[in-house]
Amino acid sequence: MTTERPELFVGGRWVPARSGESVTVRNPATGAYVGSAALAGVADIDAAVAAARASFDSGVWAGASPRHRSQVLHKAADLLEKRAPELAVSITSELGCPIWFSERAHVPNPIRQLRFYADLAQDFPYDEVRADGANTSIVTQEPVGVVAAITPWNGPLSTPTLKTAPALAAGCSVVLKPPPETPLTVYALADALREAGLPEGVLSIVPAGREAGAHLVDHPGVDKIAFTGSSAAGKKIMAAAAARIARVTLELGGKSAAVVCADADLDAVLPALLPMALMVNGQACIAQTRVLVPRARETEIVDALAGALRGQRVGDPMEPETMVGPLVSERQRDRVAGYVETGRAEGARVVTGGGRPVLPPELAGGWFVPPTLLAGVDNAMRVAQEEIFGPVLAVIPYDGEDEAVAIANDSRYGLSGSVWSADEDRALGIARRIRTGMVSLNGRPQAFGTPFGGYKESGIGREMGPEGFRAYLETKSIAVGDR
Ligand code: NAD
Repeated sequence: MTTERPELFVGGRWVPARSGESVTVRNPATGAYVGSAALAGVADIDAAVAAARASFDSGVWAGASPRHRSQVLHKAADLLEKRAPELAVSITSELGCPIWFSERAHVPNPIRQLRFYADLAQDFPYDEVRADGANTSIVTQEPVGVVAAITPWNGPLSTPTLKTAPALAAGCSVVLKPPPETPLTVYALADALREAGLPEGVLSIVPAGREAGAHLVDHPGVDKIAFTGSSAAGKKIMAAAAARIARVTLELGGKSAAVVCADADLDAVLPALLPMALMVNGQACIAQTRVLVPRARETEIVDALAGALRGQRVGDPMEPETMVGPLVSERQRDRVAGYVETGRAEGARVVTGGGRPVLPPELAGGWFVPPTLLAGVDNAMRVAQEEIFGPVLAVIPYDGEDEAVAIANDSRYGLSGSVWSADEDRALGIARRIRTGMVSLNGRPQAFGTPFGGYKESGIGREMGPEGFRAYLETKSIAVGDR
């Protein structure tokens, strides 16, 4: 199956790219041609922002009833649901994550988010009356305006939906800029929302590179930037937004610690921890990649982890048994392989992995890195401080719980983390001391509808849940006198 997207979705219509540019998408597992997509340039971004601005200011969507907006989002969710199998294949073809992960997470999660925000927006208490005895005001919540949503490649449909669903539910108009690596599946959102009755102008989808992205961030017609990506880009975006006090939410990088306690049962830990470390072939912001272990159990845990990593099936992500597929691009593969060498040079031991995995000839053109374990890692090393974004884990020993917490917190990131212990109260106590936006006890998944986001350089603001909806609202007080 190949997908051709020769046009951009600007203001609800398919139009040729003024830039004249396009990108070829290759299957990261094989190098085979997957499709191509038009890429937006600055003139295309200008057209998309103009359409969003005009639609927002006209009130065609912002002024529609929450009930109507909710119906459109639910209809779009229905339409995406009908295409679920095809979308899972499309995501795995352009991203390379295992097909089971596309089927269980990348496709159902955005559909669930659309429904969640459709329901939340319909029942949301937008107006509240407050009085002080002498005066009365209405405190009202309004859509923030035109939203620039900028997304990375590791969640081709889910990250765009995490921004578009709450923004549209709130009544905003949206210019969504996906990256050139994964520009194909995201258009399913355009197809679904258009068919569901979203008015023209309210949504544009304009895949583009960094230059066009920076132009979008700088655009005076944009009221809010919702960004997911690297902390380096996030800093530039926050600085650019400061020039006009544009609103920003940033979902950035991570270097999460998995704190394995002295009483942890490895037979329970390993099967739960590995999927959390190798999610999207290790290309997940919340990947648990620093494994903090009690020094007395270091050898035992390193041996067990290495054995478990060797047992992970590496291969064609379209096969249901594959646990680790390729990285998204040659550049990313080289970057990750470079980090393994950096680790070696810093004095870490490559216990398993490194180099290239042995694979069948049809995968010779793929961008694979085998699951890799670094031991003898000190938290000051670059491989412990920098986001590798590949299937590479580092084991770091600690002496006592206080040191475990100190190492977990000795990071410029603060996105996620996990605590592994037979004693739930002890695990909860440690979780409360970890300075990150999310922590899992013994690998339990985050409850749906709870906030996602980071402390420190992992970001600002939250997505998901009601917090992710409020991020698209402005608060206004209207003094109505003594009514
Ligand atoms: P990236 O920052 O290079 O790019 C992300 C997006 O921003 C792309 O669309 C890119 O074109 C655009 N971009 C880059 N520089 C820009 C600029 N100056 N102005 C405007 N747009 C710009 O990130 P990446 O390598 O594509 O993605 C991986 C990163 O994303 C990792 O650091 C990962 O942790 C992070 N991430 C975070 C979350 C989260 O929710 N916290 C989720 C997924 C990924």
